[in-house]
Parts: sequence; C-alpha cells; structure tokens
Amino acid sequence: MAALGRHRACPYKGTNYMTVNNQNIDTSPLVDPACYAAATAAIRAEAARLFETGEVTAVVGYRAGRRAGTVMPEVAVTAEAAAQLIFSPGCQNNLTLFLSKAKRDALPKGKVAIVVKGCDLRALAGLIGESQLKRDEVHVIGVACPGVYGAAADHSRPLTADSAAKKCRECKVHLPEGVDLVAGTLPELKELPPLEAQELARLEAMTPQERWAFWTEQFSRCIRCLACRQVCPFCFCTQCLCDRNRPQAVDTSPRPAGNTAWHLVRAMHLAGRCSGCAECERVCPMDIPLNLLNRKMAQELYELYGFEAGTQPQEQGALTSYRDDDDESFIK
Ligand code: SF4
Ligand code: SF4
Ligand code: SF4
Repeated sequence: MAALGRHRACPYKGTNYMTVNNQNIDTSPLVDPACYAAATAAIRAEAARLFETGEVTAVVGYRAGRRAGTVMPEVAVTAEAAAQLIFSPGCQNNLTLFLSKAKRDALPKGKVAIVVKGCDLRALAGLIGESQLKRDEVHVIGVACPGVYGAAADHSRPLTADSAAKKCRECKVHLPEGVDLVAGTLPELKELPPLEAQELARLEAMTPQERWAFWTEQFSRCIRCLACRQVCPFCFCTQCLCDRNRPQAVDTSPRPAGNTAWHLVRAMHLAGRCSGCAECERVCPMDIPLNLLNRKMAQELYELYGFEAGTQPQEQGALTSYRDDDDESFIK
C-alpha cells in the first residue's frame, strides 16, 4: 500500500468548470467491452491459484446478478464459486465494506483476497489506518478499471459517457497501485467533462444563505432509511449515535430537525475519513447529493490541514484518531 502515499495537488480545487456544455455528452460505448472480459479472466486465474495454494480462505468479489448486466457481491469460499467471479461496468459496490471488524463475521477466518477498483483502494487504506485490518491479512486484487455505471444506468446496455458514474468522469486511480496483482489492462480513455467538479463549483459560488437553503431542501427529502450508512465502509460503529434513543441525541424520525442533525453528524464523522467512493449517493433512494457534501468536506480538510484521506494508511486523521482501546461507553 506504500505506493498510495504520494502527496498530490488538491484534486478539488482550481478550475471553473461552469462553462462546459453538458448537452454534447457522447453516448457511444465508452470502451471496448473486451477489457472487462480480460479483467474477469485475470481475476478468475488469480482466485484459482490462491485456492490451489491455500493462501486464502475466501475471495471477496463480484458475480453476475439475476437480470442482464446486474452484479452482486460474492464471498467465494471455494474454487468453484471463484470461477464465477466477474468484472463488468455493473461492479459498482465498494467491497471493502466487508473488511471492517464489525462486518468481518461475513467472512471465514484466515487471510482473504478482495477485488478492488482504484477508488475502493482508498477505503482499504483508510480501514488499515483505522486498525480495522492489517495489510498482511488481505490479498489485494486490483482491477484496471475504465469505469462503472452510475446509479440510474440501464445495465443491459454498454457503458457510455452518459451512463458512467460521475466519479469515473474525473477518476485519477483507474490503475490501482500497491496491490498484489492488477487484473486486466487499461484501454485508452476519453476525456469527459467533470460533472462533480461542476456541482462543487456551483455550491462554492452560493452565498452561505443560499447554501443553507440548498441543503435544507436536500435533507428535507431524506426518509432516514440509512442505506447510506449501511453501505459506507467507514460507518462501522457497533452502536451508532443516531440510533440511540435513551437519551436521544438525534431524532430518528424523518422530520426536518432530525434530518439536519443526522446529516451534520454523518458529514462530521466522515470528514477526513471518507474515501469518496460515492456509494452513499448511489444507494440513496431520494437522490440526495451526498457525495457533493463529502467532496466539500474533503476540500475543506485539504485547504485547512493539507490532509487527503485514503492516500496511505494513516492512524491519525485531520480530525480523528482511532485506537483499539478507545472508550465507547458514552454511546452505550
Ligand atoms: S472512479 Fe475510477 S476506479 Fe472507481 S469505478 Fe470509476 S473509473 Fe473505476
Ligand atoms: S440513503 Fe438517502 S434517504 Fe436514506 S438515510 Fe441516507 S440520505 Fe436519507
Ligand atoms: S461517506 Fe459515502 S463516499 Fe465516503 S466512504 Fe462512505 S460511502 Fe464512500
């Protein structure tokens, strides 16, 4: 994971993208689908080798879902199951979710292998930094990743500029570094207008009053399903402050005051930890732009402290530190 540790120019800053014309988005296939097939073959070959040598007890990866083009997480515990693993534009999930201590029960004991995209690798570095696992407990199969579908994409069609996840449009980690194997090779990629950066620039241009009105409106739609929490690799507390009702810190029903409190708690608890995988936004049934808030917080952290999450395992974050013996009695 050491190769993740380079200090780069702030990725959130500096360009006014407001002039980009989104009406001219290219809808032709983004890449040759053969590159996904090549990554699939490499993942299967590595998984077969790992089971044959007994190096791992499980491979966490993706397998085809029931409907055309859909994909679901798979914890393969046999060579036969691992032979069904795939990589395709439907591989949206950040599988590092399975590796936090709170969720390791889903895995058999022993070393496990995991399939990660470059953006997922940032979460892996964060989880190692927060003592959720050790690097030598995991065999990392990185994927040369040209992109995955966005939340509303039709999975039965090839990936296009239109259907790709917004995060993929400005990805700088298509090729994961510091992994045990890179599956597949990266095809030539088109340059796409960075929609997330445009949204962030729009937010930055607002007055504080406009920003408050914007977020109040967004948060008012929240139904408190907590899908965003369940899918986040960093929401691994065994007792969430926002579930507690004796005494109640945050109103658990979907009403304005409780919604605002929930989103502020969430933003603050993830500031300096969020890896930007955008899974929270993808699963939100109310289309709340959670990753816009994540990016805004990441930008603030960078500007204030020069801190960027997920570039390398770091025990001490900009706002947080984690120890195994931290006292959690105050939330019990
Ligand atoms: S952000 Fe990059 S690594 Fe992550 S899914 Fe998109 S293209 Fe792949
Ligand atoms: S997933 Fe969306 S609707 Fe559900 S709690 Fe999170 S922000 Fe609210
Ligand atoms: S807050 Fe969202 S973007 Fe950040 S790590 Fe969690 S799921 Fe990923």
